[in-house]
Amino acid sequence: MRAAVFDSATAAPGVWLSIEEIPRPQLQPGELLLRVLACGVCRTDLHIVERDLPPLLPRVIPGHQIVGEVVEGATEMLPLGARAGVSWIGGVDGDCWFCRHGMENLCDHPVFTGYSVHGGYAQFAAVRADFANPLPTGLDAMAAAPLLCAGVIGFRSLRVAGVERGERVGLYGFGSSASLAIRVLRAWDCEIYVVTRGEAHRKAAESLGATWVGDEDAKPPVALDRAITFAPAGKVVVDALSALRKGGVVAINAIHLDQMPAFDYDRLLWGERQLRSVANMTRQDARDFLALARDLNFRPAVQVFSLDEANHALEAVQHETADGSAVIVLQQASGSENAGKSSPATLEL
Ligand SMILES: [Zn+2]
Ligand SMILES: [Zn+2]
Repeated sequence: MRAAVFDSATAAPGVWLSIEEIPRPQLQPGELLLRVLACGVCRTDLHIVERDLPPLLPRVIPGHQIVGEVVEGATEMLPLGARAGVSWIGGVDGDCWFCRHGMENLCDHPVFTGYSVHGGYAQFAAVRADFANPLPTGLDAMAAAPLLCAGVIGFRSLRVAGVERGERVGLYGFGSSASLAIRVLRAWDCEIYVVTRGEAHRKAAESLGATWVGDEDAKPPVALDRAITFAPAGKVVVDALSALRKGGVVAINAIHLDQMPAFDYDRLLWGERQLRSVANMTRQDARDFLALARDLNFRPAVQVFSLDEANHALEAVQHETADGSAVIVLQQASGSENAGKSSPATLEL
C-alpha cells in the first residue's frame, strides 16, 4: 500500500513525510482493517513531525481523524463495507482505575492513533475494532474526517461544562473547535456569548448566530451559566470566571496554558463556581457527536489533498493557509453517497 511515513531520524522541515510503498498492515487479534477513504490533518500531527512531541516509534504513519471502510476483521457492529471513524484515542487498557470508573479518556495506558501506533495517512489502517466508531449514514467521509478530533473535543467541552438546553454559554476564542461547538449550542437553543480576538473570528461568530460578540477585553452583558475557553492563555480563563454566575462552570479546552494568573478567590471562585480542564475524549463522546453532526447536517469547509501532497497538507496547517480543514483524501467510498461524483475542492458549510 502507499503510505506517508514519518521517520524521526531523517525527516526535515517541510519534508517531514516520505511517500512510500510498504506492506499492508497485518491484523492483530481484536483489530480490523480499514480501507482509508479520508484522513483529517490536525495540528497535533504537526507537533508529532516537528518532534514537539517526542517520537514514540522510529517510523510512524501519522493521522488520527480516519474515515475508512471495513475490508477485513469485520465485527457484528462493523460488518464488511461498513464505514468507521477513528480518533486520537485508538485504545485503552480497560483495567486501570480510570477505565473501570467510566473515564477512559484519562486511561493510564492509552494508545494514540498516528503516534504510538500507525494512523491514517495511508491506503489502509489496522485499528482496534472496539475503538472504530460506526459512521452514521448520511454523514459523508470528507465531512466526517475533520470532526473526529477538534469537533469531538469541542463537544466534550460542552459536556464537561454541563451545558443544558437554553442556557447562557460563553465561548472564549473562536477557532475551528468553537465554530463547531456553536452549532451544537444553537441546536440546544442556548444564548451564545463569544469573546474573541480578531475581526475575522468575530465576524464568523456573528454569522454563525452568536447572541453577542465582543473583543478580548469585552465582558458579556449578562452572567453566564457556562463558559468554554479555547485560547491557550490563563488570562482568558480568569476573564471567563469573572463572567460566571454562582454555581457556573468554566471548562478549559486547551492542552497547554501559559501561566495561570493569580485571581481573587472570594469574587471569582467562591459561590461554588467550578474550573475544569478537558482531556481527550471517550468513545461515547465521539459516537454521540457524530450522530449529532449527521442530524444537524454538519459540512465543515475542507481543503482536499492527495496522499502525495501530505507534506503540503501539514504545511497548510502550519501556516494556517488551508481553506477550511485540511483533509487527505485516499479514495471515494464504494456505494457511498459520494461514489461517482467528483470531489469538490472545498465543501462549504
Ligand atoms: Zn487532533
Ligand atoms: Zn485505562
